[in-house]
Amino acid sequence: MLNIVLFGPPGAGKGTQANFLKDTFNLVHISTGDVFRKNIKNQTPLGILAQSYMDKGALVPDQVTIDMLSDEVSKNSIARGFVFDGFPRNIVQAGALDTLLSKHNAQVDAMIALEVEDEILVKRLLKRGETSGRSDDSSEDIVRNRIKIYYSETAILKSYYEAKGRYHGVNGVGAIETITERLNAVVNTL
Ligand code: AMP
Repeated sequence: MLNIVLFGPPGAGKGTQANFLKDTFNLVHISTGDVFRKNIKNQTPLGILAQSYMDKGALVPDQVTIDMLSDEVSKNSIARGFVFDGFPRNIVQAGALDTLLSKHNAQVDAMIALEVEDEILVKRLLKRGETSGRSDDSSEDIVRNRIKIYYSETAILKSYYEAKGRYHGVNGVGAIETITERLNAVVNTL
């Protein structure tokens, strides 16, 4: 298996680039944010619970998120590998992902981080909010809260994967195709 965690702050371009990686390397793309949004749209119990956190730009509780992720992985047990987008977002989730993959005799082969400055992120997210219909993209306060949570809880994962020699940083600013090429170059070294 080839398992990649696509990493970076909100607005770094993870969703866009995960779609390309999935196609190029024949992987299954799992975006925890997308799965939550689908559940909100269908008003499932999971969606109703997740919405109260997402509306504030806060993280959905770990156990709920981990169980959901683990279901998504099980549904695709014959996959060649995964691109995880938006997961893990803290150390507890990173540990849970290691445990889950080890049950499939697999591991996180690389964390690839899209590096983008904060002010560019805020601009990108508010612009996306004009068309995405995402309530968490529509207010500058919520957008800044999401970036703040990224630094307080999620950014530490860089050292977690660096310690395992699996961290790769990529410049996330530039034309979409250029960034795709930078990512492909990293994946081709794995
Ligand atoms: P995203 O689409 O990745 O920007 O995620 C949108 C929102 O979904 C986040 O702000 C969180 O509220 C929630 N979410 C997505 N992934 C996770 C996760 N791994 N852990 C907790 N909450 C998450």
